Amino acid sequence: MAYRHAVSVCAGVQLVLTGPFELRLHGVIATLRRAWLMVPCRRGSVEVGRSREGYGVGGISYAPPVNDSDIDGSSQRDDGYWEMLAGQAPDETGFPVRPPAGSDPQASAMPTGEPKTPRAPVHLDGDELFGELADTFGYGAFRPGQQEVIEAALSGVDCLAVMPTGSGKSLTYQLAARLIGGTTLVVSPLIALMKDQVDAAVEMGISATFINSSIEFEERSQRIARLKGGEYELVYVAPEGLGASLGSVLDEADVRLIAVDEAHCISQWGHDFRPAYRQLVHLKSRFGVPVLALTATATQRVRGDIASQLDLVDPLVVQTSFFRPNLKLHVYKKGKHGDTQIRVKDYIGKICASRRGESGIVYTLSRKSAESTAQYLRSLGIRAAAYHAGLDAETRTAVQDDFIRDETNVVCATVAFGMGIDKSNVRFVIHRDMPKSLEGYYQEIGRAGRDGLDSDCFLFYSWADVIQLERMVSVGDDESSQRRHIRRMYDHAESEACRHATIAAYFGEWIEPCGSSCDQCADLGSELHEAPTPRAAKASKERKQELPAGARDLFEELRTLRRRLAGDRQLPAYMVFNDATLREMATALPSNHDELLAINGVGAKKIETYGDEFLAAIEEWLSR
Ligand SMILES: [Zn+2]
Repeated sequence: MAYRHAVSVCAGVQLVLTGPFELRLHGVIATLRRAWLMVPCRRGSVEVGRSREGYGVGGISYAPPVNDSDIDGSSQRDDGYWEMLAGQAPDETGFPVRPPAGSDPQASAMPTGEPKTPRAPVHLDGDELFGELADTFGYGAFRPGQQEVIEAALSGVDCLAVMPTGSGKSLTYQLAARLIGGTTLVVSPLIALMKDQVDAAVEMGISATFINSSIEFEERSQRIARLKGGEYELVYVAPEGLGASLGSVLDEADVRLIAVDEAHCISQWGHDFRPAYRQLVHLKSRFGVPVLALTATATQRVRGDIASQLDLVDPLVVQTSFFRPNLKLHVYKKGKHGDTQIRVKDYIGKICASRRGESGIVYTLSRKSAESTAQYLRSLGIRAAAYHAGLDAETRTAVQDDFIRDETNVVCATVAFGMGIDKSNVRFVIHRDMPKSLEGYYQEIGRAGRDGLDSDCFLFYSWADVIQLERMVSVGDDESSQRRHIRRMYDHAESEACRHATIAAYFGEWIEPCGSSCDQCADLGSELHEAPTPRAAKASKERKQELPAGARDLFEELRTLRRRLAGDRQLPAYMVFNDATLREMATALPSNHDELLAINGVGAKKIETYGDEFLAAIEEWLSR
């Protein structure tokens, strides 16, 4: 039977096809069963036939249509999806052309001043970069992409870094700031989190502060005076702040690099558009310094938008892989799942109970279900709290702080929660309901496992979620785009292709099926299929984290010590050392400063502040 769909493609686009299906290209018909194929195409159409199990294009498999009359031979996607994959009407630089200045009323809100002459590049001797990396951050090697980004900043080149959460984005501008001298301005969207970002930098011995509307007048004046005096290596500001009185102060400061964090917020094509980001348009010409735009998630369209909105000049685009193998992706359809009836509430309870004491986030569609889920978890003795826009600001801040400081283990939240939270030890993320886009889903699961340790991501979904999400679609220009995102997310959940490969393909990256980190490629041994007693579930989790029994006890003791030290200094525990660093200590058993310094995540400032206490704890444990 030859059911056929024609798919329009743009010149140069590479279709990624996932089987099984029949493919007819230039008159040749091939039947592909669970195969992957990349086809470079000229403008035209490719016909994709259907076999019994479905058919797929673009890395995303579709469920077969309900009946044959749904297949009409016309294009499955006439919604611009393929044009999006191929990029938007690029100009000669490969990026879309920005609308003329003045077409956006927000764009002129920031004073432009006289454009400055670009500063001379910073020349480094060979070992300086690595020396500073080891000294300040305690790492012996860069993670992928970091070195390229830092070197671009030092040589005065603009850079667009698309690096997934957990790949060490903030290290790039922190290290560049130290090496480049003067002050680095960090534009960050979330005022509530600036204090934590600054605390983390200060813990590493970097001189940093933030200036925003939350600060008292007197304190603000002092910080501004120190900024003018060149005392800060890093200054965090909100985009709104640049248009206000702070704007003129910055002209007097020795700004040498500008880092725009969460840069996707500048694009209305992204999932987190913030109008205030449009005020950043004249940053480049105003300061005459390199601009480093950073984001964890950006489709090609969003990338182009960031580059043009920020006026980046021949930017170096650094993109590291979207594949994060330490995120184990589990997907469950609500209702029947094979022989198992999925009752979401029970399963969330089991997942959280078997990870007692560990940090997790449960995302829900409604405030009501955030509340009821949190209440249910508390009834199981789990330290859980709800977080949503219906709570007052004070409560929200308290929930966030408690979570960051490990006082609360599980936060049940609407999507309002989590952006910018740089908490390294989130061990699981659960979507109680289907999120409204694949981009949002990836952003949310990305909050797990930032320390690189294995973390589980559970997605529960149903067609009813699609209906409910479509009811929530806001009326306006992008109504059809919102609906498209919802359907694409559903396609992803239903797909039999590798979850990681599908997500990567959505962002324009081609990877092999992951083989071990998703429920399509491997048996992840989820407790949902076992008869989970807390003991059995715990055993399976411990097996996964692979710490020898003795080391595990010491690890727990070091965690206790960390909690005490963090409490004394009123810091989140992970800012002292993250879990990965403590695990390494528990296995390497350092006995002096040099050995301690060899551990990843231990820098000079950390040794000075905490070194002796951790060495003493290890020595004491060994002498028992
Ligand atoms: Zn996979």
